[in-house]
Amino acid sequence: MTNDKPASKLAIYYRDDMVPADEPGNYSKSPTKPRRFLEFLRGTPIWPHIELRDTFSPVTRRDLLLAHTPAYVDAFLAGTMPLAESNGLRWSPQFRDSVLFTNGCLLAAITAAVDDPAQVTMAPVSGFHHAQPAYGSGYCTFSGQVIAALKLYRERGLRGAWIDLDGHFGNSIEDSRKFEPDLDEAIRHDMNINPTEQHRSYLGDLHGKLWTLRKRASAGQIDYICFAHGADSHEWDQLGSQLTTAEWLEASELVYTFIGHISKESPKPVGVTLALFGGYRDDHPESVLGLHAMDTARCLNILGGVELDYQAEVRPRVRE
Ligand SMILES: [Zn+2]
Repeated sequence: MTNDKPASKLAIYYRDDMVPADEPGNYSKSPTKPRRFLEFLRGTPIWPHIELRDTFSPVTRRDLLLAHTPAYVDAFLAGTMPLAESNGLRWSPQFRDSVLFTNGCLLAAITAAVDDPAQVTMAPVSGFHHAQPAYGSGYCTFSGQVIAALKLYRERGLRGAWIDLDGHFGNSIEDSRKFEPDLDEAIRHDMNINPTEQHRSYLGDLHGKLWTLRKRASAGQIDYICFAHGADSHEWDQLGSQLTTAEWLEASELVYTFIGHISKESPKPVGVTLALFGGYRDDHPESVLGLHAMDTARCLNILGGVELDYQAEVRPRVRE
């Protein structure tokens, strides 16, 4: 590292062993997205503003039991079917180990953000928000957000908010509330933010929900905010329909502008962590990475005081 490298504005938690070597036969390419996203960022003007951090551990069985039944946890750890593939992804020892690392990555990134709220962190991960307490679902294995939220609430009394702009509803938080009732304190019912509708109605709904978050933060009820801008809410994703490119980026700007207000208004520091979540285009995977990169650039511009004029190619989808 040279001395003339600018101070980092975004700390990304990444290590190679959070990514399995390949994805044999899997529809979802999300398991390799952390590595592909980092490779993509290296070729952009965003890269000088990134600090990589690899000092984190996989989650333990005990961590997993915060949000999941022993029967499911042990089946996944041992590769016992059918539970081990209830996420819709092929199980292997290497894939299992990568899942423990992606959950550990998210936990480390959120913990670092609450420990040093001046530093925005990112866990470039996916694969959590459809998981159930007793099984995986929709390419999601464990509820990494629930594990992190319960750990931070039980050990430190911290409360969070999730802004989940993936194209699909983040049900793992809602579906875990009965399993662990104090999740209602760790992430309140209106702080699992998932806009509904499409286009201008979606942005209007997001705006209203961000105001609710802003009011809670002003009342000192929020210690950290997690934002996952899934690229499958983009209309050209094969699993998405909600937003045009301009609208998708408008959603990024809206979120970061609100977070900027919140960090000034809140009576206590608020940590901020980003994650990736969905994005499935197989005709042009670079469009998915480009959307995530443009979102990252907006984070740096609005929260980090950087002036990046970065545009990625988002190619119209060729429909069969
Ligand atoms: Zn999705």
